[in-house]
Amino acid sequence: MRLEKVDSIMSTIAANLQDIRRRISEALQGDRREVTVVAVSKAQPAAAIREARASGCRDFGENYVKEAIAKMAELGDVDATWHFIGQLQGNKAREVAERFDWVHGIDRAKVAAALARARPAARGALNVCVQVNISGEATKGGVRPDEAGALAREVAAMPGLRLRGLMGMASPSADASRQRAEFAVLRRTLESLRADGLGLDTLSMGMSQDFEAALAEGATMVRIGTAIFGERRKAA
Ligand SMILES: *Cc1c(COP(=O)(O)O)cnc(C)c1O
Repeated sequence: MRLEKVDSIMSTIAANLQDIRRRISEALQGDRREVTVVAVSKAQPAAAIREARASGCRDFGENYVKEAIAKMAELGDVDATWHFIGQLQGNKAREVAERFDWVHGIDRAKVAAALARARPAARGALNVCVQVNISGEATKGGVRPDEAGALAREVAAMPGLRLRGLMGMASPSADASRQRAEFAVLRRTLESLRADGLGLDTLSMGMSQDFEAALAEGATMVRIGTAIFGERRKAA
């Protein structure tokens, strides 16, 4: 009985991923650009990550360092790309620089410098995105759109880091036109940095509730949790 139950939970992940891939291709409306799905596995067990990996997902997003490292240890045999998507405290920079492949929430030069210093040379450059506050909410991290250029140039010059682009979160609104208007701010900010000569290829935006609006505004990376894995377990 127990095994059957686990089976049905697991196949839900595969079915959810299939549905998301279909919705992504519809949202792209024939545009052939590559979109990476970061499966946000925070507060989900290692077994769920294993199942998503078996269904073709390779990128996983985590926002608690301790929890992520425990799961990475359990999943040592799984070939995965790890994205840190949470608020990064300076004292956690070393662990993140050693274990992760991407960091999406860079909003202070000081934290970027700590990551750069701690990145082991053998792991190659750490991919990073500067976080921009596109919703105007005080509770969200990120620099103002007009501050993004200065921070991006500073980060781009740090050895050990590879600045890939920008990350943002829309306010929790079900109104698709409002979602699009906020994502458009991030797209235009990226376009202006590229016009200034920064070689950026990543627009990390869109979550379970709003990834279609993000794709309509040019997202290349969507970070999707509950629509893949279901509700998160409560934090202990
Ligand atoms: C939790 C989280 C997500 C995923 O949210 P869902 O609504 O579960 O898709 C995406 N990005 C960040 C930064 C998050 O913290």
